[in-house]
Amino acid sequence: MVSARDALALLLDGNRRFVEDVRSRDTLPARGRRLALSSSQEPFAVILGCSDSRVPVEIVFDQGLGDLFVIRVAGNIVAPSQIGSVEFAAERFGTRLVVVMGHTHCGAIAATLEVIAAPPGARHGNMQSIVSRIRPAIESLARTELARDPERLRHEAMRANVRASVNHLRHGSEVIEHLADHDDLLVVGAELDLTTGVVDFFDGIPG
Ligand SMILES: [Zn+2]
Repeated sequence: MVSARDALALLLDGNRRFVEDVRSRDTLPARGRRLALSSSQEPFAVILGCSDSRVPVEIVFDQGLGDLFVIRVAGNIVAPSQIGSVEFAAERFGTRLVVVMGHTHCGAIAATLEVIAAPPGARHGNMQSIVSRIRPAIESLARTELARDPERLRHEAMRANVRASVNHLRHGSEVIEHLADHDDLLVVGAELDLTTGVVDFFDGIPG
């Protein structure tokens, strides 16, 4: 089993390669690796990321087959099925690092801010199920002086949404809370900058 700290180091190394436009040979598809993984897996990290086409998790962290247990949903929100997926990986595979990763220029965050600003009663279709999970984390921000600086508001809202997802995972599941308290499981929050490619782990990193 890879510890949370070691898993974090692997992600940081992989992201450095991504930023520098180099790729580890270990991450290229290989028949031997595929066969070795056909009946078991031991992913070293769980990543809850956004569905956005510009945030493909394995590429951003330069990882290969069997390395990451990935959950992607618009706005990296936490609903019961996401909690269940994290519990599954942590219990079944012993994965000890859970990362919630937001990103700059997130359409789900922008859409939620538009809904907050829209007149009450407007209809938003099935997007509502995403928006209603993001809204509580960012609504108060939209009512501060940040509203006068839309770019900063979107950025702060994205981080607030990541922090809310991290908190939800930490405390919305007895299984995850128990593993965090007794078995060194770590839930952390991160931000991917689409321009630089750099992932900044800004929440929950041990000193
Ligand atoms: Zn997004």
